Amino acid sequence: MLNAATLRDLADLAGPERAFLTVYLDASDDPSVLDARFSRIRSLLADEPEELEHFEESLSLAREMIEAHESTPDGALAVFASWGADLRRAYALPEPVGTKVWMGDAPYLRPAYELLDEHETYAVVVLDNEKARIYLVSADEVDEEGRVRGDVKNRVKKGGWSQKRYARRREKQIETYATEIADGLAALDAERPFARLVLVGSSEPVQAVTAALRTDLRDKLVGSTSVDGNASDADALEAAAGLAEEGERRSEQALWRSIREQGVGPGLAAFGATSVWEALRAARAESVLVDREAEFAGTKCRACEHVVHGTPSTCGACGSKDVFPVDLVEAVTEQAARTGAEVDFADPFDALAEAGGIAALLRY
Ligand SMILES: [Zn+2]
Repeated sequence: MLNAATLRDLADLAGPERAFLTVYLDASDDPSVLDARFSRIRSLLADEPEELEHFEESLSLAREMIEAHESTPDGALAVFASWGADLRRAYALPEPVGTKVWMGDAPYLRPAYELLDEHETYAVVVLDNEKARIYLVSADEVDEEGRVRGDVKNRVKKGGWSQKRYARRREKQIETYATEIADGLAALDAERPFARLVLVGSSEPVQAVTAALRTDLRDKLVGSTSVDGNASDADALEAAAGLAEEGERRSEQALWRSIREQGVGPGLAAFGATSVWEALRAARAESVLVDREAEFAGTKCRACEHVVHGTPSTCGACGSKDVFPVDLVEAVTEQAARTGAEVDFADPFDALAEAGGIAALLRY
């Protein structure tokens, strides 16, 4: 599966010329739809014989992989091929990302990044007073990671001292049960870190677990909801998916607020493609928020590999005229992967558009 570590490895492969062919093929598209795009690249590279050779050789590697690999039904296939860099990798993606062909200076990762960003791993606890199941949901699978039994008895109406003793014992039971679940989540996060947490179940154990959570895990809690006592785990997981998605939208807004706070205050923020790119190049960016529909042109130098925002005809670093266009959002995505910065692809909103469609929180 394509994960953050794989993307980081692929991002490291960037080179000085267009030697990487990337193909994203949705399962609903026949591979023959790619032919027109291959022909277009061939004609665009007609005056660059070396890059044309990279393309033709990489294309035969890609074709072999496209024939050999099935995409998941309703998903897509991502193929990265470079004859020059001896790269041949194919990944099944769980969702369509739009069929695309790209010949560039690095594997084209933006669609895969967006997919992972949109499907960050989250943990779900489905629970009542009897038992709890812990699930981990990632882009392509749902795993049951653990079970905890509570067997907390229902409240009963009794009078006097025995009622108090009964209530105390019951409270203790709930607390022990909740602590066991919270410990299970902490162990899971250590082994397979998750970005968000959702609790689904009746309100009493949900509140107890919330109280028992370690602070950093409580920060990951994006919501809780109760489902009908007879609801299946599938229903519970569907409710959780909705909450996790709302959590993703909220985290985009929270990141925007942090960036804006820095912008009006201490200044550890960058706004607009030029500033954000400069910050990333200097490894100063910590989190980048980009409008998922934004497009920025960039230019790369074949002589010194310098990349800038915009379309100058000579390299600002070395003066060479041997430059070629790159997709700056792609360059941002790759540089973020190399420098350990996060990229959040946000649904478009006005404030971000006014700030230039891209902004970043800086480390220093
Ligand atoms: Zn240069």
